[in-house]
Amino acid sequence: MAVSGSVVGGTETASLLPVYRRPAHLFVAGRGCRLYTEDGTAYLDLTAGIGVNALGYGDATIAAALGEAIDAGIVHTSNLFRTRPGEALADALVGASFADRVFFCNSGAEANEAAIKFARRWAGAQGGAATHEMVALRGAFHGRLFGSLALTDRPGYRAPFEPLMPGAHFVEHDLAAAAAAVSRERTAAIFVEPVQGEGGIHPIPADLLRGLRELADRSDALLVFDEIQCGLGRTGHLFAYQASGVVPDILTLAKPLAGGLPMGAVLTSEPVAAPLQPGDHATTFGGGPLVAGVAHAVFRRVSDPDLLANVRARGAQIQATARRWVEEGRARQARGVGLMWGIELAGPAAPVVERARAAGVLVLTAGEKVLRLLPPLVIEEDELDEGLRVLGEAIA
Ligand SMILES: *Cc1c(COP(=O)(O)O)cnc(C)c1O
Repeated sequence: MAVSGSVVGGTETASLLPVYRRPAHLFVAGRGCRLYTEDGTAYLDLTAGIGVNALGYGDATIAAALGEAIDAGIVHTSNLFRTRPGEALADALVGASFADRVFFCNSGAEANEAAIKFARRWAGAQGGAATHEMVALRGAFHGRLFGSLALTDRPGYRAPFEPLMPGAHFVEHDLAAAAAAVSRERTAAIFVEPVQGEGGIHPIPADLLRGLRELADRSDALLVFDEIQCGLGRTGHLFAYQASGVVPDILTLAKPLAGGLPMGAVLTSEPVAAPLQPGDHATTFGGGPLVAGVAHAVFRRVSDPDLLANVRARGAQIQATARRWVEEGRARQARGVGLMWGIELAGPAAPVVERARAAGVLVLTAGEKVLRLLPPLVIEEDELDEGLRVLGEAIA
């Protein structure tokens, strides 16, 4: 039975599986960095759909790319056939990164599941089936499926679903700890988010990334960077790895990739791709002409040096304000880079999120005590000022 009240606000329909906890607001439109409810109330959005809406709402580039796909009349053909947008996007990703090959899928977790399979395929070809284990960092979030969840360090997300993929190990953000967990005989790959997102916004220091690169090389293991949240301009670099100069063997992308359409990608070096044969992995929807066309348009925009310069400038703006909050005792610590910030509070972050929302500003948490800011990459100085002012009051 339809619950008609649900479509005009009020409480959420009971027809949905209750795995999300959502406020009552019902958003019906978006423009720039703002979302609107039915009665026209505007909210400044510093969540960007959890880092997805890099270009904000109502972006003309995305609308044009959607229009082109609709005009062409093919949303989907399956991977039985060639289509142009996916090939062009793969060329663009290869041209702008370390990678030689690209595999498209439909979400972040799927990208990491594919990366796990590719790493196992590579390691199996090198060292045999025993070489299948994966090492991830404390605080890691790599997704909610059985392989990616095994590499996600959140007991509450894992426990109800165990047993997960075997052979997953977590280590502290410390090279000696990683070296103790990595073995030439058993380890296929080391998974790292160059800037941890869900775990509370922890940028991994460049020297640790360098150390992990050397450790992987020494141990005949692959280094996998999960840039699903921190990639595609979020840090002020097109790819987060470019800031450290540490080059992975595999890199996963998703969240902002297709402007809000579901899409993930796995970028690999040639040696990782070499053992993979037709039939080794596949997906019905992955890299279809509509999502790939939109993603290519988004990719051009997030590659734009002016946009990346805006991310760095706005990041400095957040840093300056957040530092003041720490000095004034309103926050314990501020961590981040570009437009990816975590403000650690003395107490729970959820009530601050609610107060900010009541004052018209949307922010995220990352764990219990961390406020997380992931604004659209196109946010302007005065909009961000406004958001930070409201947030500062909500913290006080
Ligand atoms: C969101 C996220 C994922 C999972 O992506 P989904 O599209 O939700 O499956 C994986 N890794 C990181 C770093 C993420 O932020």
